[in-house]
Amino acid sequence: MEFFVSWYHGDACYPVYDNHCSLLVSITSVPFDWTVQSLLQPPRRLLIDSGAFHLVTASSISPRLLADNGMYDEKGATLKAGAQSIEEKISQLSPKKVLERQLSILGEEQIPTIVCALDYPILDPHLSLQEKSKCITQTIAFAWEFKHLLEERRMSSHVTPMAIIQGYDIDTLKWCAHELAAIDFPLYGLGSLAPLKRHEPIMERVRAVASIIEPERLHIFGVSAIQTILALKEMGIHSFDSARPAKAAAYNEIFYSHPFRRFGILEPSSEGSKLKGRIPRVNRLTEPLKCQCPICVEHPESILVVGKRANIKARGVHNYYHLKRVLCDAPIC
Ligand SMILES: [Zn+2]
Repeated sequence: MEFFVSWYHGDACYPVYDNHCSLLVSITSVPFDWTVQSLLQPPRRLLIDSGAFHLVTASSISPRLLADNGMYDEKGATLKAGAQSIEEKISQLSPKKVLERQLSILGEEQIPTIVCALDYPILDPHLSLQEKSKCITQTIAFAWEFKHLLEERRMSSHVTPMAIIQGYDIDTLKWCAHELAAIDFPLYGLGSLAPLKRHEPIMERVRAVASIIEPERLHIFGVSAIQTILALKEMGIHSFDSARPAKAAAYNEIFYSHPFRRFGILEPSSEGSKLKGRIPRVNRLTEPLKCQCPICVEHPESILVVGKRANIKARGVHNYYHLKRVLCDAPIC
């Protein structure tokens, strides 16, 4: 099973530390003129999503960024992303411009790349059934348009399209999977899992979709729990992505593997005072444990420094190393 690490502009460049790094980039998480050539080292594989999830969940994406990325048609470029309903936001996305932006991110690079169809994430539990159904039919319509665009363009062999399955329960996910399978894609991604959080409800949905789409053609979006990652691997799932290494690093969390453990940082200044964050004092480190990651072999103390951008990046690389080690059962190369 392949692990795509979610990458935001400003995160550590994981491919510098891992020759086999697979990166997930979202259109809306990089500047409008960003290309993969801007990285110090290109990833081994790339997954470029449509930005729809980020657009729906973030309230602070600048309209300029969206407009410059072709996320809005000209008429919509003056609208404020944060001030709109989800429906208004997504209704102004253009599948054609999203695909063009995905391909411009890749440029002339021949990296094996998955490009995701634009979808309509269902993340708001307060939506009516009618609104949720509309999200699904719109996702299917976007997939049709995506397929048509790909046929028109005759894509290079290193670019693989992925349709996104959306639904709000087992039946609607299966229905969406059926409809997308009829359009026929080499790969399918399963979205809308983020609000579930718990392992069993997530796995229930994955198993339902895997009864229609073979696990080896399924990507599972936004997985962070180790138990879930290992269960997906056991099922023979094609791939998953996680933003957990960098997110945990930003929250001053440090991972170790074999077995997987999670620690906080005990700053000298916090002696006797109330601690921030959820990790208890007993699980906080004042010095790093033994580690062979590319950061710790040179500057092990750097992962314990709080508040500085460079140290958060270093911690992100350390966390990535251990998360990947859990999955691959082997150190990164
Ligand atoms: Zn380390």
